[in-house]
Amino acid sequence: MFYSFFPGARPLRLALFAVGALVLSVAPASAQRSTTSSEPLSERRVAYQIDVTLDPEARTVSGSQRLTWRNPGNSPVDELQFHLYLNAFSPGSTFQVESGGEHRGNSDSRDDRWGGITVERLAVAGRPEGDLGGVLPYSGQPVDLTPNMRFIQPDDNNRDDRTVMAVRLPNPVLPGETIALDIDFESRMPRVVARTGFAEDAQGNPFFMVAQWFPKIAVYEIPGQRYVPADAPTGQWNAHQFHANSEFYADFGTYDVTMRVPEFFVVGASGVRVQETTEDGIKTLRYRADDVHDFAWTAYEEYRVHEATWRHVELRLLLRPAHDTETQVRRHMDSAIAALERFDDWVGEYPYTTLTIVDAPGGASGMEYPTLITGLTLYMGPSWIRVAEMVTIHEFGHQYFYGLLASNEFEEAWLDEGMNSYVESKIMDDAYGEGAFLDIPGLPVSGRHMQRLAYVKQNPSSGNLTTRSWEYQFGADYAKNSYAKPATVMNTLEGYLGWETMRTFLRTYYSEWRFRHPTTRDLQDVVEAVSGQDLDWFFQQYVYGSAVLDYRIDAISYSRDRSIPDSLDARYDYRVVVERVFDGTMPTVLRLEFADGTGRDIPWDGKDRWKEFTASGDERLSAAFVDPEGLLWLEVDRLNNRRAIQPVSPGPTERRKFAVRFQQLALLISALF
Ligand SMILES: [Zn+2]
Repeated sequence: MFYSFFPGARPLRLALFAVGALVLSVAPASAQRSTTSSEPLSERRVAYQIDVTLDPEARTVSGSQRLTWRNPGNSPVDELQFHLYLNAFSPGSTFQVESGGEHRGNSDSRDDRWGGITVERLAVAGRPEGDLGGVLPYSGQPVDLTPNMRFIQPDDNNRDDRTVMAVRLPNPVLPGETIALDIDFESRMPRVVARTGFAEDAQGNPFFMVAQWFPKIAVYEIPGQRYVPADAPTGQWNAHQFHANSEFYADFGTYDVTMRVPEFFVVGASGVRVQETTEDGIKTLRYRADDVHDFAWTAYEEYRVHEATWRHVELRLLLRPAHDTETQVRRHMDSAIAALERFDDWVGEYPYTTLTIVDAPGGASGMEYPTLITGLTLYMGPSWIRVAEMVTIHEFGHQYFYGLLASNEFEEAWLDEGMNSYVESKIMDDAYGEGAFLDIPGLPVSGRHMQRLAYVKQNPSSGNLTTRSWEYQFGADYAKNSYAKPATVMNTLEGYLGWETMRTFLRTYYSEWRFRHPTTRDLQDVVEAVSGQDLDWFFQQYVYGSAVLDYRIDAISYSRDRSIPDSLDARYDYRVVVERVFDGTMPTVLRLEFADGTGRDIPWDGKDRWKEFTASGDERLSAAFVDPEGLLWLEVDRLNNRRAIQPVSPGPTERRKFAVRFQQLALLISALF
């Protein structure tokens, strides 16, 4: 998800208006496969066959699903746990308590804002034989388990929270065995909040973002998976309530989803559309998405549809009419393709055949679901501030970190949002240059600077990256430690290891861990193996800890060496004192700059609190500069890195001018938002 670092900044209220006749060009999906492979790419522990009807008047999605689940462990399982995320949007839920009803700057007080999900019936359909997915042969009689359903609150004991449900089974599911459940449910969509819900445009046309909308089985972690010890006697459910500050975690599998909507709706969804028919004013659509861990869809009459192809990927852009301009189409498509290309090169193949980009309003904007993302389009947004591009690149990047690697976002949000923000910042700078984020002449702000700025201005010493997302002190602390700081940590690690090593790390991490839910420990293992270095000193300080990094030049001077006779060339002794201002350390370089324009670099391990450097040479010293290449992105103050000898220096150097302007800009941006 996209996080605005500027509390109080609200998306512009959009005036939607009809633009002439609706012209749609919906090409049939050329590929009937949702991935590039005819073989399963993931372990596929779950299979969903969902069949639902959207009632726009009642704002409900109701129907049934057959859920097939395989016990992946080595011990019997006698209870199943489910996420019912939509219940977060009903009164008294933990989400409501924690957020005060507001989510990332969006709130609503209308009476019809509530949503929720009702499981009407849950029954064991049987014990299928054979693989997951498709139509399965069943044996045995259905067993109604509806009376066994109960809500649990593993995180906070809030009895009013109904976002996690447990169901005791009459007979356990044995290791390796599968169980099929038939579940009837009705989901009432809330007014758009926290990435899901309904809204109305200016004409009263209903818009739906249907996400977190079906009963979803939690992850049963087996011994050796993530942090469950390899010698644990049994596996355990990893289910968390829906919190103000948390996202998702689920197992991979297959989704076969049929939805019925009034025929005038334009629908976008995860996966590939395999069927579409219309009868008696009702459109029936069927989608298939393999090797994903969630499924979302959207329906809105006024979408303007644009399509493009990149290699094996069909891109589909659904724009609201007010945004349906050539410029907006280009900005979305170009940035999506910029991201596809660089992820393919830097991380690995995008294995899906579709990508749908949705222009969603307010609280549904800037979000990721498998093969479907929502952008952030500002009405008449100027081209010199690349928010639309940044959000599209960011949400696309989630296809890798949230989608394919699928770390546990409840417990280690940074592995998704933070790693994604790191790559996003690099893609922005690679695609759009020095002014990637803010393209103002004389005052450019790159993607990496934007991330650094967001970290530096948010109390850098509080919190660490590995706190469970709902246990952060407050929202801004979650945001800093899940987005801007990890992006800046990774940019600093790149400065230390070099881009080629980081690229090898990204590619190795992806190829070894995709579809397998890596942890922070797994990530550290990969980067250490790839670099051949023990990086614990780095992880302990900046990932697990909250060390703050800053060096400053405390003193600089030189003197003529009087031992050398005047008749010979002058010799000078130099003295520079560098202070390590806070607790963080990083190896770096001290550059001595001389009056004749030359320089000399002295490597330094960066550890001492105070470090005196002495040297001598035959040029007058003009300045000293710690980290002259700007590799220490984590440094909280870059203005104190360079110091000139007064008044020798003719004026600020370009780099210093930039640094001054940049920090002025930081203040300006803080003031604006
Ligand atoms: Zn995100």
